[in-house]
Amino acid sequence: MARKPNTELELPSASRPMTSGSAKLNDNNTVSQAELTALHEAVIYASHLPNHNTSKIHVDNRASIMAFSNSKSRNETARKIFKILLTNPRIKVAWVKAHAGNIGNERADELAKDATQHGQPYSHIKGLLRKRMLEEWQTSWKNGDTGRKIFNIMPSVSLRPTNWIREDVIFFSQHGPFPAYFKKFHLSGSDYCSCGGIGTALHYVTECIYTVSWHMRKPAPNFEQEWLKRVANNLVSRHKIRGIIKFISENRDLFRPP
Ligand SMILES: [Zn+2]
Repeated sequence: MARKPNTELELPSASRPMTSGSAKLNDNNTVSQAELTALHEAVIYASHLPNHNTSKIHVDNRASIMAFSNSKSRNETARKIFKILLTNPRIKVAWVKAHAGNIGNERADELAKDATQHGQPYSHIKGLLRKRMLEEWQTSWKNGDTGRKIFNIMPSVSLRPTNWIREDVIFFSQHGPFPAYFKKFHLSGSDYCSCGGIGTALHYVTECIYTVSWHMRKPAPNFEQEWLKRVANNLVSRHKIRGIIKFISENRDLFRPP
């Protein structure tokens, strides 16, 4: 089931041909153009720094690097970058692999700041970078092999807060104080709950005799995924789950296998 994580991200927008001649950003323009424009800003900025400073600019898009490494590039911005780099050998440009684990608002800020430092296209570029960053994140989330239980419930990445608290994550990831989890990770020899049932996360919200006051209706066989999705989007259900997880966490002894 688990697929290999995508380590080298190829983004659809990056492979589109670049428009030549104009550095103006508009919606028809490609992200590569936005990145080149941002990089151009960064290179100009670095070229104005005192001479003894070496600047290293990190770029995580290979298409941009390919473009400005070519003195005869059809892209005017790329040619301008090439020229500046040629006359300012102390400015280095390094390619860094886009890192999917380091993603959030800070990442968009970092990319945009790295790229522009100053100048007005900042907010626009930041928007484009955020969009691209989300695409990267989505790709690695879709193709990765970690957090699959959460992926099945939340297949789309988003920067909007989901209001998930610790208890929600424990329940939906099923990584928590459940006998079945302890057994799976060799922390215990038995996956039985003290009530005699198998101590999975689902057991506690639907059948365990110690958590009856928070019970929900058991999902029909083969509909567990749908059920989890519905529960994740229902505040009443989420409150029940939080109650159970808190209760289990605070009463570990009660749930230890017999
Ligand atoms: Zn039980």
